[in-house]
Amino acid sequence: MNVLITGGAGFIGSHLVDHHLHLGHRVHAIDDLSTGFGTNLSEALKSPNFKFDQQDIVTWTGLEKAVQWADVIFHMAAVVGVKRVLEDSLKVIKTNLTGTERVLEAAANLKWKPRIILASSSEVYGFNTKPSFSEKDDLVLRSDDHFRWCYTATKLMDEFLAQAYVMERDLSVTSVRLFNTIGPRQAGTYGMVVPNFVRQAAGNRSITVFGDGTQTRSFCDIRDMVHILTLLAENEKTKGKILNAGNDQEISILDLAKLVKKISKSSSDITFIDYAEAYGRPFKDVDHRRPDLTELNKWITFEPKWTLEETLEDLAALEEKKQQLRMPA
Ligand code: UDP
Repeated sequence: MNVLITGGAGFIGSHLVDHHLHLGHRVHAIDDLSTGFGTNLSEALKSPNFKFDQQDIVTWTGLEKAVQWADVIFHMAAVVGVKRVLEDSLKVIKTNLTGTERVLEAAANLKWKPRIILASSSEVYGFNTKPSFSEKDDLVLRSDDHFRWCYTATKLMDEFLAQAYVMERDLSVTSVRLFNTIGPRQAGTYGMVVPNFVRQAAGNRSITVFGDGTQTRSFCDIRDMVHILTLLAENEKTKGKILNAGNDQEISILDLAKLVKKISKSSSDITFIDYAEAYGRPFKDVDHRRPDLTELNKWITFEPKWTLEETLEDLAALEEKKQQLRMPA
């Protein structure tokens, strides 16, 4: 099977690459390395079944050929991370809209059309205050702090594009609203909480909780997420659907900080930072973000394999190794 992965050097994309190579598939990854890293592909690059192009999906003239080659496409290329979204909005909008349209249009023009998994985001639920979000829930974008929603709006538009291509051009696309996902290779540079906490704890530096730490999130191990996305790709019956994907175990950010500290055997203190200071501007956080997985479970048979503790233990061990390597002998 031929698998094309856009955003293939990113956190989720590169794990998809490794998984599909492991399954014996031929894999072609595209990434402009703006937020992804070449090092994420160091194992993959040893495989004769792997090809990588450092290209921007917005401008790359080889995209149509790459799409034509593919049986399955995981369209993961997007600019993500709260900080990045606030600092580089034009790039966010162009990559997330034009990039998606190009991939879908190229696929729709083919006689034999590939199956497509499109990465959307739990961000689309916005400030919905329900304890967990199901696909039928309202999407609540507020008018204050208007610009912050530009990422969210592009992801919503991607879903609409996908729906339109399904209805009018018979494409087989499934849009997946990805909830918080964690694992090796996730960069903390753009504000993601777990890599930040794990790095701070390993260095015995203050663990920085934004706000009062009562906000909650549900974290899915990357290995589980890759499994979910792969099962969805295999299930043609999910064509045209919009589905949540993630893990529904919930934890407050303060409890997460305590758990990371304990698992890392760290002497860090836990400090609270105002959102305005953390983001350099006033910022209203989403209080709770937990997926309702009822709809997903109608379509795939899936039980998460990894608990939050297990994932954090792996990440803490990896970070300790990294920090030892950086230390002078
Ligand atoms: N967060 C934090 N400290 C950090 C980074 C993030 O307390 O160093 C908080 C952030 O305010 C949010 C939660 O952790 O409430 C998850 O943040 P992330 O950016 O990882 O995911 P998202 O907010 O997009 O769900």
